[in-house]
Amino acid sequence: MLEHKVAVITGAARGIGKAIALKMAENGANVALLDVAPQEQGEAAAEEVRALGRTAIYKQCDVTDFNATKEVVGEIIKEMGGIDILVNNAGITKDKVVLAMKEADFDAVIDVNLKGVFHMIKHCYSHFMKKKAGKIINISSVAGLIGNPGQANYAASKAGIVGLTKSVARELASRGVCCNAIAPGFIATDMTADLPMDEEKLSAMIPMGHMGTPDDIAELAVFLATDKANYITGEVIRVDGGTAM
Ligand code: NAP
Repeated sequence: MLEHKVAVITGAARGIGKAIALKMAENGANVALLDVAPQEQGEAAAEEVRALGRTAIYKQCDVTDFNATKEVVGEIIKEMGGIDILVNNAGITKDKVVLAMKEADFDAVIDVNLKGVFHMIKHCYSHFMKKKAGKIINISSVAGLIGNPGQANYAASKAGIVGLTKSVARELASRGVCCNAIAPGFIATDMTADLPMDEEKLSAMIPMGHMGTPDDIAELAVFLATDKANYITGEVIRVDGGTAM
């Protein structure tokens, strides 16, 4: 479904980003993986993509850096012949109730989770406009839709992604470029590894009674990247076992 497409995925060295990279490759895409992770870790993820018979490159890149992201997007277009799919997945948490939250922790989360998305979209914007095609998929969170105590910075960044997604979708719709967001609920990755959740507490919070997997998110990302989703834009789709319904 994604033969001859090039996908750029941020935060792709592990977790949901890596699952999206692998699922896109399984479906035929060549992949550029971006992350702040060390070269060996990113290369290992890229090697898993290559094992599926696709081209993969890893570039160490901090999405908070305007100039570095600009440079990396230019390099990918040169090395891989263009970009068809942009998945903005890189994200961090720095949880505390607002009373205890440091200004620096608020800024850091907004910088990675929201401004990083702006950087990547901005640098791919004219490329997609000229092609009159492109799929932008931003990873938000149910926290951005319903809030979460202890995550004011994170929820604000993820709610910001919703506004950014819909604005970009409106700006680029007439050019055939789609921009959508996925709002995951509790997904089993390193980010949620330390959650103190027993069965009972999980069932109370998640109607389906269990956490999701990175592949649950990757399947939707692949669908949104295909031509089957050409008439879907400005949408925010929850993948959360019913958590935020
Ligand atoms: P994860 O396992 O912590 O992976 C996040 C990846 O992003 C890591 O490889 C990390 O690199 C990278 N990263 C962090 N800061 C970066 C930066 N400035 N530039 C580039 N890459 C950066 O998290 P995950 O659970 O896969 O989450 C992926 C996305 O889904 C995030 O946006 C998250 O907010 C969202 N999400 C997750 C859940 C969940 O339950 N897991 C729920 C809702 C939404 P390092 O490891 O080197 O720091």
